[in-house]
Amino acid sequence: MPHVIIVVADGVRPDTLAAAVEAGEVPALQALRDAQGLHTLTTVFPSVTGPAYVPFLMGEHPGHVGLPGLRWFDRSRADTGWPHFTRSYIGSEMRKVDRDLALNYPTAFERSGGGLAMMNMIGRGLPRKNRLTDTVGFALRAGYTHFRGDVAGWLDVDRALSSEMLRRVLAERPPFTFASFCGVDKASHSLGHRAPIVRQALQIVDGFVADVTAAATRQGWIHELAIFVVSDHGHIDVHAHDDLADLFRERGLRVLAHPKIYGVSDPEIAVMVSGNAMAHLFMDLPSRTRPFWPRLSARWNETAEMLLTRPSVDLLLLPHSDSTVEIRGGGDRGSAMVRREGNRFHYHCDTGDPLGLGDVHGAPEAECWERSLQTDYPDALVQILALNDCRRTGDMILSATRAWDFRGRFEPIPHASSHGALHRDHMLVPMLTNVGSVTPYRRTQDVFHRAMAHLGV
Ligand SMILES: [Zn+2]
Repeated sequence: MPHVIIVVADGVRPDTLAAAVEAGEVPALQALRDAQGLHTLTTVFPSVTGPAYVPFLMGEHPGHVGLPGLRWFDRSRADTGWPHFTRSYIGSEMRKVDRDLALNYPTAFERSGGGLAMMNMIGRGLPRKNRLTDTVGFALRAGYTHFRGDVAGWLDVDRALSSEMLRRVLAERPPFTFASFCGVDKASHSLGHRAPIVRQALQIVDGFVADVTAAATRQGWIHELAIFVVSDHGHIDVHAHDDLADLFRERGLRVLAHPKIYGVSDPEIAVMVSGNAMAHLFMDLPSRTRPFWPRLSARWNETAEMLLTRPSVDLLLLPHSDSTVEIRGGGDRGSAMVRREGNRFHYHCDTGDPLGLGDVHGAPEAECWERSLQTDYPDALVQILALNDCRRTGDMILSATRAWDFRGRFEPIPHASSHGALHRDHMLVPMLTNVGSVTPYRRTQDVFHRAMAHLGV
């Protein structure tokens, strides 16, 4: 009977993983590298945990299943509650992820008919007893560790989860297991991705892979087991925060932004940050459907131009329609248009080439990926249009420059490192596996499809 284990080292960069392998610090991961190589894949935009787990657990882009980011404004008023009509998966509303997901894409748990998971965020189809981190005890411990800003405490959480998950996997041998370790991400946010404790957190992941591999070998089912070790986003140090909500308040606008979502009467703009290096901005809030840029530009173009002068803003995306998005580059990098016709992608430089890609005429998805891989924005054409497919997406979408992010206040621990943006430091992730594939691994969705093929579902 086939088995799949997807192990997520949340937030690890490809170069960090490669350095740990080279230094001999992660022998089980090194064995996977020696067997099938170290792959570099692209994650999704926004490159942030939660949305970036959709590829692993549903094989889709988060925009296609209704998760455009960690926070969004609900134009429809049908999906969230009065009075603020917003969603934030940070904190108690995390449990609402499953109810927000589109029904037409089954999860790995539903497809495989069983599973085990920890730190999974998406759990549709997974019985409660098989969700290791959904217990009240875990929530209390995680909440306490988080709000104390205790990085070593997160490594203790990973160690405890690792042994509990190992015990359950060996006892139950489920078809599908999703084991995410958050130590690398937590340590990176508070101390920077190059801090030594990040590599210690990676060694906990290595220990889990080593223990599972050894036990499955001993018990004689290693040949039925496909293991994938992946990350869901990169990380890079930030030196400054440009708090967008405060920026708009200072300019005299009535702003809806977490945590200040109550008592804002007649808000003019909703600022919904993810990661924290990306943000959805919503204007014309009374409109129940997306207004799109041509209708908004008369009132808001001055705001758009102001944003492009800020050092924090790398790319400004302006949806013109369901299949067309204008891309403006920060500073004086000019604008271009990306458009999808059927399965083909077009990118036309207008007053500039903000993605550094040159004109693209009718390229399919695979070609878009290949052509953009060495640029600053790997897979950007496909990612931008997939996010634009979501009805919950903002009217302006911001992607931050490397040294910046968009939230200056209300974080339990200061963000010394961030993610969420479209640039390669956030979009490229490593992948190791013990199974080959006839088609190359490009995007994190490919892990899901290869995993489901292994399971025969
Ligand atoms: Zn993070």
